[in-house]
Amino acid sequence: MSAFGSRLRQLDLFLEEPPSPAEIGADQAALQARYDSIAAEWKLPPARVVLTARRATGGVITYGPPHVIRISSHMSREDRLQTLLHETTHAICFARWGVAEGHSPRFWSLAKKLGVARRTAPETERLRRVREANARYAYRCPGCAAEWTRRTPFGRARLCAACERAGRPAHLILVRRPRPLRRSPRKR
Ligand SMILES: [Zn+2]
Ligand SMILES: [Zn+2]
Repeated sequence: MSAFGSRLRQLDLFLEEPPSPAEIGADQAALQARYDSIAAEWKLPPARVVLTARRATGGVITYGPPHVIRISSHMSREDRLQTLLHETTHAICFARWGVAEGHSPRFWSLAKKLGVARRTAPETERLRRVREANARYAYRCPGCAAEWTRRTPFGRARLCAACERAGRPAHLILVRRPRPLRRSPRKR
């Protein structure tokens, strides 16, 4: 392995440092409390808010009862809150107009009212590392902004399972494909 490669590996270990269970627990409780207070104001049904390490970025809502909102723990505190507000906006749209609302203009107008400042999930260190580790083909869901990487491409168009379950089907978009192989110089 080259010196450059081993240096990268060390950097990865440093950045791997996960948040402590106590921090995760406290932050999850704070996000839950935030949902509960918005829910009281907007007359929304209950939701269970879960911080999860299994998503590289962003979040998703599974409609209940009760709704379940899963938020990636790999994001900064501010981005976790942004994601909660985004998913809570889906809960409001679901209550008012049903499952098919998606990211409509009135979704974004409500989201803005709730304090949502960004439209896409952030690039996280975790996501970058997942990409680097096995990234050949990367797919993004335009509905929930979740990303997947695969060693081989899907043979046909795929729906995001989470969005389909949530009643707003979205086709995965190929956002990265392998670079053409460089021919290695031949030794004589
Ligand atoms: Zn959304
Ligand atoms: Zn999705």
